[in-house]
Amino acid sequence: MPPRLRTGSAALLASVLLCAACTAEQPELDPGPSPWADRPVVSLAFDVAPDLGSATGRESLEFTPDLATCELVFRAWPNKPFTSRTGTSLVVDRVTVDGEPARAEDVAAGAPQEAPAGTLLEVPLTECAEPGEQLTVVLDFTLQLGRDANERVGTSTAADIAWFATAFPLLAWERGQGWNRDPAVPVNGEMAVSEDFRLDALEVTAASEYEVLGTGTPAGTEEGAAGTTVHRFTASAVRDVAVSVGRLEVTERTVEGVSVRVAAARGTRTDLRTWADEVAGSMTELVDLLGPFPYPDLWVTVVPSQSSGIEFPGAIQFGDVRPEARRPLLAHELAHMWFYGLVGNNQGRDPWLDESFATYAQLVTAGGTTPAYADIPTDQRRDVGQPMTYWTDFRRPSSRYYDTVYDVGAAALVEARARAGQDTFDAAVRRYLRDNAYTIATPQDVQTAFTDVPAALALLRDVGALPSAGD
Ligand SMILES: [Zn+2]
Repeated sequence: MPPRLRTGSAALLASVLLCAACTAEQPELDPGPSPWADRPVVSLAFDVAPDLGSATGRESLEFTPDLATCELVFRAWPNKPFTSRTGTSLVVDRVTVDGEPARAEDVAAGAPQEAPAGTLLEVPLTECAEPGEQLTVVLDFTLQLGRDANERVGTSTAADIAWFATAFPLLAWERGQGWNRDPAVPVNGEMAVSEDFRLDALEVTAASEYEVLGTGTPAGTEEGAAGTTVHRFTASAVRDVAVSVGRLEVTERTVEGVSVRVAAARGTRTDLRTWADEVAGSMTELVDLLGPFPYPDLWVTVVPSQSSGIEFPGAIQFGDVRPEARRPLLAHELAHMWFYGLVGNNQGRDPWLDESFATYAQLVTAGGTTPAYADIPTDQRRDVGQPMTYWTDFRRPSSRYYDTVYDVGAAALVEARARAGQDTFDAAVRRYLRDNAYTIATPQDVQTAFTDVPAALALLRDVGALPSAGD
């Protein structure tokens, strides 16, 4: 099948190149973990409106399920409560499967009643697919961008900039598990699950005076129709896609072998050089702690109406935050390149796997306001392992979620590092990252990686991140 063949020949070529670099005395280089060979292949095209308020899109997908299935399931995350209420929406207009028009059922799955579409799209197949059978799907969609949104999708009334991420129908397949249909909940955080896919082509068409930041490696530009330029990008393995478009200042540099671009509309609180310096410093510290940076390119956008930061594979959106908040925030979002990007997780079911660990790496490299473990009252040292749905019943769901999953989880990991010894603990973290790269990890995978670090396992059980013996 074409995707498998492409993957096979790329792997073969890589091994030939590796061997060409070897001599008889040198051991063969360890190629490290590699992505799922049969991962989906995605081509995405966005056509951004001249007023930066909307976009139309087309997603072309080659998907080879590893289990039998009689439908396809996509998530439209821009319709989840916190994103939808800013005026953002994602509506799928047309679906074809293997060239034939297909029926698509729109399911609310937690979307607010007033949202024009749900967070879940089910596409029944006319014939069930066997494992290993390739399906070709094309989805046309329309994206509305919320004005001055403090969210991952938006457009600004103060500057010429649009930003959109997780803003296309996201295949909801988990290898060995099947479809994820968990409802979106009104808590401020991610709840997606996505396997890596090969981003064969990301094409963004926008007015020629605008800069475009994408996901992956730039693959050239071309003149489009009526004063537009088509910007192309490609990536070997990513779980999501982020794009920024606008009248932007962009600065570029190479850090730890990674091409880093930092962009902002003019008039940010801090100049772009300072932003880029701090990104570089934080990346270097995290590479020392966690291992090689997982992507060859990093795209950073300072977004006028955001108050914090949001991570995507090889891309980050930041608010124009106060200088004293910037270093910890940078470290947190950059740490997500390993915890969420390289090692994925179901962010709805096990949000601690990316948020506790990202906050932990932030605390170790850049500090922050998280209390020390000893200062957290005993009755609050629990619930770290709870899913996103658990927090909806609290009076302030998002605060409870942050205080517990980010802070208690991270404080437990910092304490575990102190008790186990830095070298032992850091080696276990690296083992976890390496053994679970390009997968969707589970708490069991943490347990396995930390088998020889009983102090860490005990603390993670105490805070409810790992099941207690007897559970
Ligand atoms: Zn985070």
